[in-house]
Amino acid sequence: MKKSTLLWALVLSLPMSILAQQKSIKALVGGTLIDGFGSDPIKNSVIIIEGERIKEVGTVETLPVPEGAEIISTEGMSVLPGLWDMHVHTMINGHANYTYWDKTYPPLFENVIMPSSAHQLLMAGVTSARDLGAPLKESISVRDRINNGEIPGATLYVSGPFIQHKPYPGTEDFRWGVNSPEDGKRKIKKLADAGVDVIKLIDHDQMTMEELRAVVDEAHKHNLKVVAHGHRPEEIRRGLQVGVDCFEHTGLSSAPKYPDDVMEMIKERTAQMNKGPLFWCPTVEGLYNYEYTRDNPEKLDNDSWHLGLPDSVITDIKNSFKHPDRLPYFQLTPSRRPTLQTKIQQLLDAGVVLLVGTDSGIPMKFHSQSTWNELDVWVNEFGIDPMYAIRAATYWPALWTGVADEVGTITPGKYADIIAVDGDVLRYISLLQDVDMVIKHGKQYK
Ligand SMILES: [Zn+2]
Repeated sequence: MKKSTLLWALVLSLPMSILAQQKSIKALVGGTLIDGFGSDPIKNSVIIIEGERIKEVGTVETLPVPEGAEIISTEGMSVLPGLWDMHVHTMINGHANYTYWDKTYPPLFENVIMPSSAHQLLMAGVTSARDLGAPLKESISVRDRINNGEIPGATLYVSGPFIQHKPYPGTEDFRWGVNSPEDGKRKIKKLADAGVDVIKLIDHDQMTMEELRAVVDEAHKHNLKVVAHGHRPEEIRRGLQVGVDCFEHTGLSSAPKYPDDVMEMIKERTAQMNKGPLFWCPTVEGLYNYEYTRDNPEKLDNDSWHLGLPDSVITDIKNSFKHPDRLPYFQLTPSRRPTLQTKIQQLLDAGVVLLVGTDSGIPMKFHSQSTWNELDVWVNEFGIDPMYAIRAATYWPALWTGVADEVGTITPGKYADIIAVDGDVLRYISLLQDVDMVIKHGKQYK
């Protein structure tokens, strides 16, 4: 018998009570469990967490709490997997002037801005997030320090720089242009070698088809999925032709709906089961809620978004949206808003799987609040089933990311990424704006 096997045999033969003292065991007892798979919630649930992982799931009738376990009551609460936000920008934090931000704050990205964003996400119950577009070194550094336990934050899956036809002036550090198929391959390889988790593609309707194909094929060769903007019809058409793995945003600006030929292409794609689901991250809440925020700016004074930011930065951000009605970013939003529900419905009717993502960090949109707002708009404005919305923020994102064996549902063996909130979230989804308990990898943060 190998020494390690022998040790394990010894450990396994210890009574549970001693184990509980040696390795931290937590028991979440009493709440209604929405496990992420989509079936009826489990009433009076018991979840046993050992160290970083979920050990057992049951009910107060079926699963005894091990002696010595730390008992956390979830009575009266909804208990669910930690949320995912599949579209965040940790390098920005609500400031309304990007040109100014990109000139002023890059020196603070790595140690102040991005860690603060990731921490805010975590405290909002977002235990995992896809960070789509930021400087390479900073992205990897922040992700790794979170994973090592050096700083608190949501587990990040990072793209590093945007890949596009040509960076806008002054954004070269986080936008990489592609000027030939070879150049595209080289840049993807550089990102892969640096250890990014995903590739973010935008403005690919301005690339040649050869460049676009080279980029996507090279990414897939390195087992990296490609996330692509779906703002313009040709971005969607080309993205479908080259097999991108997820589209972002509810696009087409103020046009009333997706054109017929695009819808035909989408349905052609969703009809192919062997290719898996077609995923789409519509990021509607920033647009949907703009006019409300403009007319009811009190919520901007909520200080949850100050966490981790120096006073000078907070003041700077506040000053940038003194006049929420004058921001160029949102000038067309009132015309876009009424089209959002139609477009979402088109996607749903075509069999697309929607993912919860928010574009968190855009003007007046804070990491501490974006994600629950997205769920709220889906459910309370668009009439999407709350269980669908929760799965789009838990089960599906983990599957898309390729980590469904580790997170995304509350299942024995997976990491204990679990949140709890007072009341019934399936009846009142906006309760998620004030999550009462956050556990990530077995550690309680709230
Ligand atoms: Zn974005």
